[in-house]
Amino acid sequence: MARELYNARLERKDCISEVSQCYHFVFVIDELESFPFTAGQFVSAVAEDAKGKMQTRAYSVASAANGNRFELCVNRVEEGFFSNHLADLPDLPIGAIVQVHGPHGHFILHEPLTDSILVATGTGVAPMRGFLQWLFPVDGLDRSQGKDIWLVYGTRYETELYYHEEFEALAQRKANFHYLPTLSRAKEDWGGLRGYVQDHVARIVKERAAHLGLQVPQPAIDPSIPAADLRFDIYAYICGLNDMVSGVREQLAGFGWHKKQIVFERYD
Ligand SMILES: Cc1cc2nc3c(=O)[nH]c(=O)nc-3n(C[C@H](O)[C@H](O)[C@H](O)COP(=O)(O)OP(=O)(O)OC[C@H]3O[C@@H](n4cnc5c(N)ncnc54)[C@H](O)[C@@H]3O)c2cc1C
Repeated sequence: MARELYNARLERKDCISEVSQCYHFVFVIDELESFPFTAGQFVSAVAEDAKGKMQTRAYSVASAANGNRFELCVNRVEEGFFSNHLADLPDLPIGAIVQVHGPHGHFILHEPLTDSILVATGTGVAPMRGFLQWLFPVDGLDRSQGKDIWLVYGTRYETELYYHEEFEALAQRKANFHYLPTLSRAKEDWGGLRGYVQDHVARIVKERAAHLGLQVPQPAIDPSIPAADLRFDIYAYICGLNDMVSGVREQLAGFGWHKKQIVFERYD
């Protein structure tokens, strides 16, 4: 069946990091009254390349559902077609059209909500921003149910931490949201965390287990229990490039985490 293509009109485009050439986009689908999706899902964007070939790329929505608007966070990939096509959309005059279909994907929060470790690098933070907007709406009801939500966000330099002030402000506003930005190539004046996301994920898992009196690694689950009956009190959601995603998955498996507790989205 042909997928329905929508015309998404560019309403706003901001360069949020000159160094890594990352852009934040706001699109409106005028032909729809609302564009419903679950936070964490992606849209597929479609455009013709210079050779007349139709190209499709997935982009996580960087916002929670909001009428007929959706937001994206995209960085230029060297020699890549689509990321540069988006980054080059004119913002003067504003209003370029990009065709999209969707929403798609299963990178969404588990229900009922549990404590959650969100782990991202680079633009992998896009669906996390969607989760956080859904959990902690600025002018709506808090949906986090007091669960602890950690965002472990890794990049090389401070200039590549997208939405940093926004996450800092959220952490100030909500005691159960813990923001852990970490830099692998921090300059000397960086006063925050250093190293890779794995270092901090390990610390969260161990400290939480110690606090709750749980064992690490957690004891193996009885394999006779049907997968549908398994209940966990914590999940991890990992998004970014494959190397990081695989690294964190292996690490959590080493802590005895069940594969159902580890939800991930790979960008490459
Ligand atoms: C489910 C899903 C969601 C995604 N969400 C986002 C998002 O929110 N923001 C975003 O910027 N990208 C996202 N991506 C990646 C995106 O779909 C494209 O792959 C990316 O924009 C590169 O496309 P391109 O046409 O510019 O490069 P291409 O011409 O397709 O590829 C050029 C080369 O770059 C590599 N590459 C692909 N993605 C990256 C990357 N992010 N960084 C470094 N190298 C890369 C490819 O493996 C390839 O070798 C997502 C991918 C998936 C599968």
